[in-house]
Amino acid sequence: MSFYELQGPTAWADPPSMWSSTSLDDVEACPRRWQLLRSRWGDFDRFPVRPHPAAIEGQIVHEALDRLTRACGQRGNPAFGSADFAAALIDADFFPSFARSVAEWQSRLAAHPRPGPAFRLRASAEELANRAVRMFREQYKPGEDSVSQAAEPVSAADGIGALLRRKRALSEVRLEHPTLPFIGVLDRVQLVSESVEIVDFKTGRPSAKHHQQLLRYALLWWRVAGDLPVRVIAQYLDGIESWPVKDAPLAEVEADLATKLPVLAGALLDHPAPAKAGAGCLVCPVRARCDPGWAVGEEAARLDGRGDAELVVTAKAGEYGFLGRSGAGAEVAVTYDAAVGRLLPPLVDGRTVRILEGVWKERESQLEIKTWTEIFVVAAAPAR
Ligand code: SF4
Repeated sequence: MSFYELQGPTAWADPPSMWSSTSLDDVEACPRRWQLLRSRWGDFDRFPVRPHPAAIEGQIVHEALDRLTRACGQRGNPAFGSADFAAALIDADFFPSFARSVAEWQSRLAAHPRPGPAFRLRASAEELANRAVRMFREQYKPGEDSVSQAAEPVSAADGIGALLRRKRALSEVRLEHPTLPFIGVLDRVQLVSESVEIVDFKTGRPSAKHHQQLLRYALLWWRVAGDLPVRVIAQYLDGIESWPVKDAPLAEVEADLATKLPVLAGALLDHPAPAKAGAGCLVCPVRARCDPGWAVGEEAARLDGRGDAELVVTAKAGEYGFLGRSGAGAEVAVTYDAAVGRLLPPLVDGRTVRILEGVWKERESQLEIKTWTEIFVVAAAPAR
């Protein structure tokens, strides 16, 4: 059976044995999405997400910027052209990473259950590197005061408080909460006027999630090293946001973790895990395998003209298309190139299919299947 005919995972993902701030936020946002993405689907270890090539190119650029931002931050944000900046480029593996990422993604796309002749990255590694350099130059401000001293990477948490007092700044500090299954890798911990500050380097825009993550990191430092940090800092390419830290709010963060982690782990033991349908469903990669989320996403797509549609195939699929009937009873002509059609799952009469990201030629009557469009077969009403 092809991936697009599987109605559910062939092996369900286990809950994480150790939680990070990101996994906690992801599971909290929607346990089912986290679970479906990480479960085995036939030959695939995980759900084979099929992002648009332009989105992959953006991701490659973003990941490289992310690494360079961290590497520069850990070296005290050196000036362009300085020896330290050159070292940060090497630490971040900045330029070599583009060719490697492009090659990796091209082979992942080729191994996807629906590869498609046009489904390849268009931009070269060099073009992506140029794009990243341009973005970095536009935003980077060297010599930010709050993190101006180079930090030393740390390999073990034992005696970490004394090590900080000796070195004044540490980087890549991996800490595990003594009693909760929660870990964090702190980008940087620094001593300023004998007070501890926790710093995380970020690309993108400031967000409440960054503050929340930093408070969790401050909690880890407090519990492992014994010192209460006085400040947490999110350093962006073009500036910083910082917040003071007090013990009572950190104790609340800890109580929140102690309450949430077992509840979220328990939710992931259900197969499928609970769905949290909402705005995220519109772009959720597993929405075709999630009834509550599909209903929300398809209705939103109908209103704003995007090509997500559930259809019952009513006339046998030919080389260039088929006829389908929507839930509202409208007849829809679905069209595609012969090359695209050969890569689609069998579209036999009476089968219900969910089409993701088609393009309406005529709203609610003519839908075109593009190279990036996916069609999932719905064998029967999936379990809710
Ligand atoms: S479609 Fe919505 S509810 Fe379903 S898994 Fe995705 S985000 Fe969760």
